Order: sequence, then structure tokens, then C-alpha cells
Amino acid sequence: MKFEDLGLIEPILKALRDKDYVKPTKIQEKAIPLVLNRKDVMGCAQTGTGKTAAFAIPIIQLIQKIEMRKPSKGYAPIRSLIVTPTRELAIQIDENIAAYSKHTDIRHTVIFGGVKQHSQVQKLKRGVHILTATPGRLLDLVSQGIISLDKVKLFVLDEADRMLDMGFIHDVKRIIKMLPKERQSLFFSATMPDSIVSLANSMLVNPTKIEVAPVSSAAETVQQFVYYTNKSSKRSLLLNILKNPEMDQVLVFCRTKHGSDKITKFLKQKDISAAAIHGDKAQNQRQKSLKNFKDGRIRVLVATDIAARGIDIDKLGFVINFEIPNESETYVHRIGRSGRAGESGVAISISEPEENAYIRAIEVLIKKKLQVVKDHPFPQTDKPMTAAEKKEANKEKQRRKQEFFANRKKNKKRQGR
Ligand code: AMP
Repeated sequence: MKFEDLGLIEPILKALRDKDYVKPTKIQEKAIPLVLNRKDVMGCAQTGTGKTAAFAIPIIQLIQKIEMRKPSKGYAPIRSLIVTPTRELAIQIDENIAAYSKHTDIRHTVIFGGVKQHSQVQKLKRGVHILTATPGRLLDLVSQGIISLDKVKLFVLDEADRMLDMGFIHDVKRIIKMLPKERQSLFFSATMPDSIVSLANSMLVNPTKIEVAPVSSAAETVQQFVYYTNKSSKRSLLLNILKNPEMDQVLVFCRTKHGSDKITKFLKQKDISAAAIHGDKAQNQRQKSLKNFKDGRIRVLVATDIAARGIDIDKLGFVINFEIPNESETYVHRIGRSGRAGESGVAISISEPEENAYIRAIEVLIKKKLQVVKDHPFPQTDKPMTAAEKKEANKEKQRRKQEFFANRKKNKKRQGR
């Protein structure tokens, strides 16, 4: 199927040609006609499937048509609201909208917390048709009377499962209550547990369900390797792997903010350009690192899972799991960062003895064995941990515990608002 077969208007087709998109991805093939036919959609899909374009393209087309019939004089009302959990995702979605709508008259902007509101408010005051927002800042600006949602015709809730994980459920419910009853709604989530299905049912009318690449079958284009080693050799092994000059752009995953800072520092000491992105970094710092990475000025980006959710880098070739996630689905999300939209990629996991069980669990989920790389200088041994390693492992455990409680406190505070 071609984009031309989906009934899209020429300004959008032109924008897609500018992006060098040859054909729609599966989710785009399914979702675009449904949205254009004014159906509510419940989509089970994760990032990397082309889901952003799947909702952004038909929304742009529908609003462009409304505007052609009934142009808003001077001030543009918000016709579409897209709510997503993280700032990175929000920025990414707005960048996509900018690209796909560049030959139309659509005005759009993005708002998120963690930065001063002034420049966001200035843009809103000029009028926007499509607003992408994270929940907290949106509610803030609504309560200040800066944003009105009563002209919204198209509502998108993106990454709903992550939204719930991050404790945004009450915010989301409040937002839904503020929207006009007469509207079209699109709901996207990577997973569909019962809590998500009931949230979807509360906001959708007669939705059409679409499902693309369930999480366990994702990333089939990614070659997956595992190196077994010891905790004390992980960094040396990482350096050894990075000796490969083909690895020009590498995303390294760590479990904690602290861990990603430590690895970044270590790589820089070894003259490898690297930057960390995680929740403790200021928004502009994260954007700068991401831009430097995308432009090839930084070779290694070290990220935590939440920070990485919103990263959109075309054709990312290499992902390294410096620490193995204890949730297998997180592994699939991580490696989904490479081999995006049909491109091939390589995912490398570096496992220490305590993590070997996580590798087994991942293999069960993806129903496939990771290819074991045996020929490397730091093989795993049964050596007991040294006293220093034990101390470090305990400290790490303590830090994780503190991070867990801090996050829980933050989420509770948010929910109590
Ligand atoms: P998403 O799942 O929305 O995060 O998109 C994943 C990546 O695929 C992004 O880098 C998009 O720019 C890219 N993409 C989306 N649709 C297409 C397409 N039809 N052809 C090629 N790349 C695409």
C-alpha cells in the first residue's frame, strides 16, 4: 500500500515525500483511514511502529479541512489535544506534527513542565490548532485560564500504560472531564492490562481496536547479542565493544540515574564523547544532549528507561544494555530504539551473574535465544564478589530503594492534587 491510497491531501503527501517515507507502516495503514472516517480508535502499539504519524497525519488532514470550511479568524482555537506522559515524547510528537503539516495552515505547539511557562504561554496566545501536552502543565495552564479545551474535536491519549505507571491517572481523568462530550478520541498504549482497558472504555465510544506488533514479537529486525561477564569487568568490556568503529551512534541503557552519570563520566575519561539523559537533568540540557547525539557530535548517549521513552532517532544502529532490566518488557522497549520502522539494528546486552536470570526471562518473553558472544577478553567466572564489589552492590541496592521510595512519594503527591 502507498500513502496515496489512503486518501491523503497533497500538502501532506508532499511533506511525507520530504521525509523520504516510502510507504505507510502497518499501524498507519490501519489507523489513518479509521481516523479520517471519524472513528474512535483503541491502538495497541509501541514507539518505533510509526504510531505518531498514524494519529498525527489524519488529525492534520481533518483540521485542515475544518479550517478550510470555517477558517478561525485571527485566533485559532485548540481543535486537537494530544496528551503524552513525558516531555521528550511531547516534543517529539510536536516535531512530527511540524514536519507533516509544514505545507498546511495548521498551527501547533507543545507544553510541558520543568521549564518556565512564559514562552509556552506566548505561543498559546497566538493561537494553536493542535496542542501536545504533558498532563501537569496542561492542567496548570487550564486552571490559570490560559487554555480552553471547549473547542477540542480530536483527543489523543498517547502511551496510556506509561501514563498510569507514572501516576498520572487522576490528571488524565480530570482532563477527560474537561473535554467536550462530542469529540473523536484516539487511545494508544503499548500494553493493554485491565486497568488500561477500563480507562479506554471510559473515554472512547464504539472504538475500533487495532493491534500492531505485540511487545513480545517486536524488533524482529534487531540482531540481539549477549556478553556474559563479571560486574568488575563490565566497563572494560563496554570499552572493548566500543572499539568497533562501526558503532558511531550508540544508546547505552542504565537502570538508574546515578549509574548513567557514572558511565558517562567513565566514557569521557576514556575520550569517548558521551552524555547522560535522565530525569534529573534540566530540560534544556537533555534537549542539547539529544541534539548533539542526533547530529553526530556525541557518540554515546547514556539513558535511563523513562528518559529514553521519548527519544526519536532515525535509524539508530546500536543499543547496549549496560544493565539488564528486571522487567523483560522493558528490554523489548529498549531494543525497539534500534531497527526502527523496518531498519536493521544491533542490541547488545552485558550481563553479570546476578542478571543472568533476567536474560533467561527475556528469552522466554521474546521466544528466542540471544546470541551469546563467547570470544571476548572478559568472560564470566564463578569468582565470588570481592569485598569492594559487595560494598558497591549494597550501595547500589540502597540507592535503588531510595529512588523507588522517592518516585512513589512523587507519584502519590501528584495523585493527591
Ligand atoms: P514512532 O513509532 O512514531 O516513534 O516512529 C518511529 C520512527 O519511524 C520515527 O523516526 C518516524 O520518523 C519513522 N517513521 C514513521 N512512519 C514512517 C514511514 N512510513 N516510513 C519511514 N519511517 C517512518
